[in-house]
Amino acid sequence: MKINRFKKSQKVLAFFTTNFNYYEPYQLLIDATFCQAALQNQVIIEEQLKKYFQSELKLLTTQCIILEAESLGGPLAGATMIVKRFYVHKCGHEGKPISAAECIKSMTKSSRYIVATQDKSLQQKLRKVPGRALLYLHKATPVLEGPSDASKKYVNKKSNALPENVEKRIEGLKKTAGIPTTAGDDDANKLKKKKKPKNPNPLSCKKKKPRVNNTERKDALHKVAKSNDKPKRKRIKIANHVKEVIKKNIKN
Ligand SMILES: [Zn+2]
Repeated sequence: MKINRFKKSQKVLAFFTTNFNYYEPYQLLIDATFCQAALQNQVIIEEQLKKYFQSELKLLTTQCIILEAESLGGPLAGATMIVKRFYVHKCGHEGKPISAAECIKSMTKSSRYIVATQDKSLQQKLRKVPGRALLYLHKATPVLEGPSDASKKYVNKKSNALPENVEKRIEGLKKTAGIPTTAGDDDANKLKKKKKPKNPNPLSCKKKKPRVNNTERKDALHKVAKSNDKPKRKRIKIANHVKEVIKKNIKN
């Protein structure tokens, strides 16, 4: 296998591992269309996939997939034989089988499967759901499809929004640093207000002044009044002849 192809598949695997919790051994859900393509291109699925992924794999199928392949008879006989070799995973439709495509869709809702199929319409449907991984054969070459637009969008949205615990940590750090937090009525703001030294209340300050007896107080007040008056006493001296003129004017 070419190194580039290996690198690309590893990159795709890393995307699903990081963002959608896929993990080793990777579970491959294989349908009869994939087996049919393998047969036509003389691909031995187990060998090829081991080479391609170079990781631990679990190759699975379901009863619905096998029953559908069997029902198609002759043309799919070879593919049916191949698909029967894989581990038959319980799908919940035992006793009342559904179509392979519906079965695969229902399976991928709950678990992390890489769906190996050549069914174009099934691929199309799975691409619309974030976190679904697709594998198909391009002639004899397995291809793990890059993340769909739906998967990319989902991941972008998730990475833009900070997880709740991170936001809480930021708020916590802000509290300790004394930076106003985003929440208006936050406890941190209340604490900060409490810590602030209060401005002295002018009324309470007056009360604290030692009381003096009446005469002393009068004197003191007098002094204050005098000192307050001082600037006012700066009267402009008016010459006598000017005063007379003013008086005359008032009389007139
Ligand atoms: Zn089923």
